[in-house]
Amino acid sequence: MVTGEVSGAAVPTEVDVVVIGGGPAGENVAGRCADGGLETLLVERELVGGECSYWACMPSKAMLRPGEVLAEVRRVPGARQAVTGDLDVSEALARRDTVASEWDDRWQVQWLEDAKVALVRGHARLLGARQVEVDTEDDTLLITARRAVVLATGSSASPPPVRGLAETRLWDNRDATEAKEIPERLLVLGGGPVGCEMAQAFRRLGSRRVTVVEAGPRLLVNEEPFVGEELRQAFSNEGILVYTGSTAVRVRREADDAPVTAILHSGQSVTADELLVAVGRTANTFDLGLETVGLRPGNKVEVDDRLRATGVEGDWLYAVGDVNGRALLTHMGKYQARMAADAILGREVEAWADHRAVPRVVFTDPQVAAVGMTEHQAQAAGIDARVVACPTESVAGATVRGEGVAGTCQLIVDHARGVLIGATFTGPGVGELLHSATVAIVGEVPLERLRHAVPSYPTLSEVWLKLVEGYLAAG
Ligand SMILES: Cc1cc2nc3c(=O)[nH]c(=O)nc-3n(C[C@H](O)[C@H](O)[C@H](O)COP(=O)(O)OP(=O)(O)OC[C@H]3O[C@@H](n4cnc5c(N)ncnc54)[C@H](O)[C@@H]3O)c2cc1C
Repeated sequence: MVTGEVSGAAVPTEVDVVVIGGGPAGENVAGRCADGGLETLLVERELVGGECSYWACMPSKAMLRPGEVLAEVRRVPGARQAVTGDLDVSEALARRDTVASEWDDRWQVQWLEDAKVALVRGHARLLGARQVEVDTEDDTLLITARRAVVLATGSSASPPPVRGLAETRLWDNRDATEAKEIPERLLVLGGGPVGCEMAQAFRRLGSRRVTVVEAGPRLLVNEEPFVGEELRQAFSNEGILVYTGSTAVRVRREADDAPVTAILHSGQSVTADELLVAVGRTANTFDLGLETVGLRPGNKVEVDDRLRATGVEGDWLYAVGDVNGRALLTHMGKYQARMAADAILGREVEAWADHRAVPRVVFTDPQVAAVGMTEHQAQAAGIDARVVACPTESVAGATVRGEGVAGTCQLIVDHARGVLIGATFTGPGVGELLHSATVAIVGEVPLERLRHAVPSYPTLSEVWLKLVEGYLAAG
């Protein structure tokens, strides 16, 4: 047993709050409830920290970072000459292992202990209103939650129904982020954020051939159309092959260590050493006892804006993070966790940022950073939306940053109200520009006022000047 965990005998049979799932959402809701004086217990069946810490956000970013730094240096004459060799892949993977805490959760467990949250290792399921059953290694426990149960069980990769896929050894996000070796040839099904990030990470870590197959008309299909086009160009420049509007209809691998071949609906075939399936996620709601409270196993848990499960009587069941399907991102899960904890603590809250202002950064090079609505979404919502855009390289900050900096910066303005409702930036390092847009959207700051928010010279943030002045000049 690790410090902070309670053994079977010591587990209380009644607490104020039981949290099921110790990913970022679960940890945060538990910590805040405990901080508010509630006796709180968290059940985790694997590692405290969840998917994000060990098999998603953290290791994937660590795998992208060496290639990003190298590309950044190569954009700067004078510095570029100092780079004379290739990436050291084993060092890069060792660094990834460190960032993933070597898949050891002792620090997160310590955090829970410091936050006065009791931890039980095991698989939890509901057993009717306010009752939670936990299968631990050597016991089955029954715990009653006096005030609330919070579901924070996250999501898992869900392979699509492609012929042969179920019988084929493949990679999901866990295999890709834990990889010990770089495959010569990698085939990625899915050109969403995970597919794009992993495709570039492996290419830059040394995969000779990386192919991305995306069913939609472009990469990152939920973002502005220019995003997918720019990323495709960048991928093509570094030898990543992209098939859009394309699906795999059949997959075959003769033996586990043999190459895998995917037949696309065009009849083309792609052969690779590893196949990463990065298409879709399913809420972890199987074997969670949802049927005992009138909900359907396998579905995401629908919630209201206080994060309470809808269709469950009595104000005691909450769901935060990926499991409720509102915004499958760590920071939004943590936001919901703060909101849910406040609701459980009896405070008046309403979570709305996860409908209106979801910040999304894809850590490819060029980076893609977006928040709020796209132009298409704004039009579909019947908003008189005005679009203003400029090239990322049009400001002095881009010139200083290096050669070949390219991209697009675009704002979507609700013209009737004169406020920002969406923003998309592409280019190196633009993820750090995003929060200014999020603040403007959440604060509903009129663009007339934003013209007085003067960005420093020479920073990339000067795109704001061009965009805001551009919108105001157009009238
Ligand atoms: C490759 C990849 C990269 C990503 N990168 C980013 C990124 O850069 N930024 C970002 O914001 N998001 C990113 N995401 C999304 C992010 O990982 C998720 O949104 C986030 O992990 C969701 O947090 P969560 O707490 O809801 O669930 P999870 O992190 O999935 O945690 C859920 C926890 O619940 C536990 N659990 C489940 N069922 C039970 C049960 N019955 N009993 C006990 N325990 C249970 C699980 O073991 C798990 O630890 C990425 C995702 C992937 C796949």
